[in-house]
Amino acid sequence: MKNTFVTKERLEEIAAEWPTPFYLYDEKGIRENARRLREAFAWNPGFREYFAVKATPTPGILKLLYEEGCGCDVSSMAELLLAERCGIVGDDLMFSSNNTPADEFRKADALGAIINLDDLTLVDYLRESTGHIPETICCRYNPGGIFTLGATGEGFQCMDTPAEAKYGMTRPQLSEAFRRLADMGAKSFGIHAFLASNTLSNEYFPTLARILCRMAVELHQETGVNITFLNLSGGIGVPYRPEQTESDIFAIGDGVRQAFADILAPAGLENVSVYSELGRYMLAPYGALITRATHEKHIYKEYIGVDACACNLMRPAMYGAYHHITVIGKEHAPCDHLYDVVGGLCENNDKFAIDRPLPEIVPGDLLFIHDTGAHGFSMGYNYNGKLRSAELLLKEDGSIELLRRAETMDDYFRTVVW
Ligand SMILES: *Cc1c(COP(=O)(O)O)cnc(C)c1O
Repeated sequence: MKNTFVTKERLEEIAAEWPTPFYLYDEKGIRENARRLREAFAWNPGFREYFAVKATPTPGILKLLYEEGCGCDVSSMAELLLAERCGIVGDDLMFSSNNTPADEFRKADALGAIINLDDLTLVDYLRESTGHIPETICCRYNPGGIFTLGATGEGFQCMDTPAEAKYGMTRPQLSEAFRRLADMGAKSFGIHAFLASNTLSNEYFPTLARILCRMAVELHQETGVNITFLNLSGGIGVPYRPEQTESDIFAIGDGVRQAFADILAPAGLENVSVYSELGRYMLAPYGALITRATHEKHIYKEYIGVDACACNLMRPAMYGAYHHITVIGKEHAPCDHLYDVVGGLCENNDKFAIDRPLPEIVPGDLLFIHDTGAHGFSMGYNYNGKLRSAELLLKEDGSIELLRRAETMDDYFRTVVW
């Protein structure tokens, strides 16, 4: 059974003050998870998590993670400005973008962010945009081909197709980029790669670390540059389905440690730092979309209408993603009804669940849609004139902090020229 981090009583109190739908984040869960991550990589003195801001671009969340030692990984002007307003700048800020406009390079450079170049052509483009090459620089690698992690009893744990991905540089381009960046004054180099998404395999980070460690040794020997960090980026997944097991962050940390010990230490590169840019892993389980059942409909199937819709949470509509649903107060009731749980958009994919066994739901019930703390609110939109919801933080002392108010009709009409 999946854990709801709030009791029925407390949630009813909260919903009496803040109308549904809203996002609710769990401060305690977020902090404990961030501390576990740090502990798992404590063997690496330079370890740093740069939270992928696109997952949850909410200042209150970024500040909370910053208190736990996490910087920010941003990829657009708005995200740069967001980090700046949170006071997260300098080498607390990683700028991992692609197809990057010049003004964003200028802003990232002005903030002292670590810039991660997605392409060889961006070496000159960055220098033309900012007038110089910063001392610390990172390049993104794309190995091409198909990336797989060994089969287990349950089949392939992970498979992705870097050859079809728009990101990163080829291996020869990396050598050239490093040489040219060094000629232009760069002194400290990082290598970045992101080869798998939402994987529960404990082998992904260690496998990626081995690839990047070998490359660091080669590039160091080939070009003489000083490689100071490997950025393993994001991709550690969360168990969206109750029957899935979560990844073991300590096994992951230890696998990366082993890769460093096996490959970097013998080459005299033991001072290289590990960076990550996790998004989903940091936030998804510690946020929920709270919505109230408003209607029931009995036609060819049984429908439960709720007051949230795909504008609040797009993943089910967009990817058919599974999000577990708990009917608050009915946690122990038998799941003897088969429902489609739907929003009110004029789009037939506006369904949070299809043919889902759930306890009997009646209008007024509160539904807790799990694992929506990342790529939930952030992917929201305004189709059909639906408004974005509020975001609330359930603090460790049980109180509520409003992180973002709900949109109003005035917000919706703000950009119209009448
Ligand atoms: C999306 C993204 C991340 C975070 O990915 P998760 O799967 O949420 O961990 C990290 N780095 C970059 C460059 C990204 O685009």
